[in-house]
Amino acid sequence: MTYSVDLQDLQFQLFEWLGLDGLLEHPKFEDWDREGIEMVLNEAVELATRELATINVECDRQGVTWENGEVRVPPAMVKAWELYKEGGWVGSTSSPELGGLGMPESVGTVLNDIFSGANLSFCLVVLLSRGASELIEHHGGEELKHRFCEKMISGEWTGTMCLTEPHAGSDVGASTSRAERQEDGTYLISGEKIFITSGEHDMADNIIHAVLARAPDAPNGTKGLSLFAVPKIWVNEDGSLGDPNDVYCAGVEHKLGIHASPTCSIIFGREGTCRGYLLGEEGQGMALMFEMMNAARIEVGVQGAAVAAASYEAARAYAHERAQMRFWDRRAGRKEAQVPIVEHPDVRRMLLTSSAYVQAMRAVLLRTAYYLDLSRQSEGDQKELYRSLVALLTPVCKAWASDWGFRVTEWSMQVYGGYGYTSDYPAEQYLRDVKITSIYEGTNGIQALDFVGRKLPMNNGGAVQHLMKELIGTVAEGKSIPTLHSAAERLSAGLVRFSKILGDLPERRDAGLSIMLNAVPIMDCFGALLGGGFLLQQAILADHRLQIMLTEKGIDSEDAEARRAFVTENERATHLHNKIQNAVLFNHRAVPPAVGQLVAAESNENASMAAIL
Ligand SMILES: Cc1cc2nc3c(=O)[nH]c(=O)nc-3n(C[C@H](O)[C@H](O)[C@H](O)COP(=O)(O)OP(=O)(O)OC[C@H]3O[C@@H](n4cnc5c(N)ncnc54)[C@H](O)[C@@H]3O)c2cc1C
Repeated sequence: MTYSVDLQDLQFQLFEWLGLDGLLEHPKFEDWDREGIEMVLNEAVELATRELATINVECDRQGVTWENGEVRVPPAMVKAWELYKEGGWVGSTSSPELGGLGMPESVGTVLNDIFSGANLSFCLVVLLSRGASELIEHHGGEELKHRFCEKMISGEWTGTMCLTEPHAGSDVGASTSRAERQEDGTYLISGEKIFITSGEHDMADNIIHAVLARAPDAPNGTKGLSLFAVPKIWVNEDGSLGDPNDVYCAGVEHKLGIHASPTCSIIFGREGTCRGYLLGEEGQGMALMFEMMNAARIEVGVQGAAVAAASYEAARAYAHERAQMRFWDRRAGRKEAQVPIVEHPDVRRMLLTSSAYVQAMRAVLLRTAYYLDLSRQSEGDQKELYRSLVALLTPVCKAWASDWGFRVTEWSMQVYGGYGYTSDYPAEQYLRDVKITSIYEGTNGIQALDFVGRKLPMNNGGAVQHLMKELIGTVAEGKSIPTLHSAAERLSAGLVRFSKILGDLPERRDAGLSIMLNAVPIMDCFGALLGGGFLLQQAILADHRLQIMLTEKGIDSEDAEARRAFVTENERATHLHNKIQNAVLFNHRAVPPAVGQLVAAESNENASMAAIL
């Protein structure tokens, strides 16, 4: 399978749109400059295309095996993990004190994009190891931090997050796993967790599980949950490995996709001897776990966008190879019996719509990661603002990007026709693999409820108003550029309607039901407006830069033929030109239907509740 990454677009978004250079001036990033980051990105593309992507199909076909509590992943995964470890990639954004590379989260997001598109199953183990390690780093105290995190960041050991139980999925508060404090300060852990990603495997010497469990006298619900670091093999005080810690893998799931990622049932304390360390304080478990989940949710959104990007790039390449039917415009004088399908307007529509969604998703994800970086480098009111923006955008990243990531893989399959439905081409694996992103880390329905019920009203709507104001400014700028005028108008109309719903929301929250019925379309609408606005900002930049290039070449920008010839031949000009087309398409074809969904909320339609289901 050929995997290609649009590094030009990732770099445009990172450096030219976000302005990463400014962030790199902060003392925390003194080891990094633009040249260094660009080198890292090139190396990542190399590793992703040469190694991770080339084993993606093989890993899918082989899957994982379970026998007597032990799990084996495809041997190619084990080899790839060695390479990944050697390159220090697990700790790309981790603290240098613990052996990490200390890069900004915005850069980490681009790296996740590059790697996840190459091999989603592989990247899951990285996501969880990094997340579990951060929990221990922040809440495990100095000793545990050094005992566990250095080895997790180096990739010697991996990590998991263990929330789900047979009767506690979305309803985490229903967990029944127990934790009893011992005289030595450790806890005896018992219970069964299911669906645990990388819960057991043969890629590392040890696995550190982050487990939610309840002390005997703790209250019911999420308030009674505490968080524990539970090693598969006990770790002695000097860091050496001790005895097995009574953590047993009872089986693995057989799934639609991500076949090389073991999804495990784990029994803690089958023999009553499983021990763990409390992280933070008793009763803080859910709040702490949210730290890991919020970071993971942004990354799951990245997975959606990344697999979508990979499937789009593959479909685009196929559309140039596959010839069917004649050229649509008979007046063009082209007589070929068959033309590549990329010439057909409907195929072009599917391709550019996919491209526009990929770029819009990346923009929303990168902006969120950038706010996360800024929140860590600022103080006072600024810090609070950036934190609230991250909080607002996290469910949007997770749910909006994973929903549309799936749809892009579906359009990509459609571009192939019948061949896309076969396993001869990568389209079907991308579609199968990406589907899980709308389910794990909190289903998208629950994310939407969080967004509308909790995040929109947060700080009197301060975060959402901040973004709305920015987008109104973008509309004004866009309207002043002839090629973008109509796109800006479409965006403007959407903003007006969305503002109206925002105004109505406080009332509807009292009604309750209206929110719950409309949370998904409202969040989808907001995602589309953000995507449309951010693409418009990028198109304004691109238009400006393209004008400069044309002027330098002495090309009259009104001379359509000369302009077309130039943008076709010059790679940078092609990218800038397409950037403008992406923004035009998205604001005409993605924003209006997303905004159109508001009609149900506007008219209080509630047939779903009236229906007898
Ligand atoms: C491949 C895979 C990997 C996973 N990895 C992990 C992992 O590493 N660690 C871990 O702890 N878990 C993991 N999970 C579990 C995953 O997070 C859960 O599947 C998910 O949270 C949903 O829980 P559930 O499957 O029990 O669905 P349910 O909670 O039963 O939900 C079913 C449906 O009902 C909806 N629903 C439920 N309650 C409400 C409500 N109040 N309002 C509106 N809609 C509602 C949901 O949105 C969903 O559509 C994984 C799952 C899979 C499939």
